[in-house]
Amino acid sequence: MLEGKTALVTGASRGIGRAIALELAEKGAYVIVNYNGSGEAAREVVRTIEASGGQAEAYQCNVADYAACERLIGDVMASQGSIDILVNNAGITRDNLLMRMSEEDFDAVVSTNLKGAFHTMRLVSRHMLKQKRGRIINMASVVGVAGNAGQVNYAASKAGVIGMTKSAAKELASRGITVNAVAPGFIETDMTGKLSEKVREQAAAQIPMGGFGRPEDVAKAVGFLASDEAGYITGQVLHVDGGMVM
Ligand code: NAP
Repeated sequence: MLEGKTALVTGASRGIGRAIALELAEKGAYVIVNYNGSGEAAREVVRTIEASGGQAEAYQCNVADYAACERLIGDVMASQGSIDILVNNAGITRDNLLMRMSEEDFDAVVSTNLKGAFHTMRLVSRHMLKQKRGRIINMASVVGVAGNAGQVNYAASKAGVIGMTKSAAKELASRGITVNAVAPGFIETDMTGKLSEKVREQAAAQIPMGGFGRPEDVAKAVGFLASDEAGYITGQVLHVDGGMVM
C-alpha cells in the first residue's frame, strides 16, 4: 500500500496516465495529476479520486520544458515534502514515413517522450537520493523494442527511454531507488483511437491474446512496480501487450 507517499504522474489527464493516477490513489498515494493542455480533464481525474476517498491535485506543466519541470518539482516538494514515486507517462505521436517525416515532428516527439522523462528524472532523483528511497517508472512501448513502420521518431524516443531507464537504474540502485520501464502494446486510448479500422484489425491479428488492452491493464503493472513488494526489481522492461512482442 502507498499511504503517506506522494506520486507524480505525468500526462495523467487522459488514457493510461489517468488510469495510473486512479490506481496509485486507490493504493493510498497522494497523486499529482500532471497535464499539458487538458486542464478540465485533469480536474475531473482529481474529482474522481476525491469522490472515492483519495487525495490528488492537478498541475499544468509541459514536460518538454525544463524550466517548467523545475517549477513543478519545486512546488510539489514545497507542499508535500517528498516525491516517492515518479511515473513518466506523458507522450505524443507524430507518425509519418521516414521520407516524409519533418525535423519538427521528430524533435517534438523526442522532446516530449524522451527529454521530458530526462527532465523529471534528473530533478526528482536529486530528492530521492537524499531520501534514500524512490520508485521511477517510465512509459516505453513495444515499438521501442521491435520498431514500427511510420514511427521512427516515436520508436527512437521509446528505445531511448529504455536505455535511459537501464542507465539510471544502475546509477541509483545502491541508494534504494528502483527505475523500471513498462512497455505497452496496443491499448485503447485517444492515441490508438486515431488508427483506421484496417490498421486496428491488422494490429489485433498480431496479438496472441487477440485484442487491444485497457489502460487499467498497464496501471496495474505500474502499481506493482511502485509498491514496496517490487523493491528488488530494477532496470527491467515489463511488457503489457497481450504477448505481442516476446
Ligand atoms: P493519450 O491518451 O494521448 O494521453 C497522453 C497524455 O500525455 C495526456 O494526458 C496528455 O496531456 C499528456 N501529454 C502529452 N504531451 C505532454 C506534455 N508535453 N507535457 C505533459 N503532458 C503531456 O496517450 P496514452 O495512449 O494514454 O499514452 C500514454 C503513454 O503510454 C505515452 O507515453 C505513450 O507513448 C505510451 N504508450 C501508449 C500505447 C497505446 O497503445 N495507447 C502503447 C504504448 C505506449 P494533455 O491532454 O493535457 O495534453
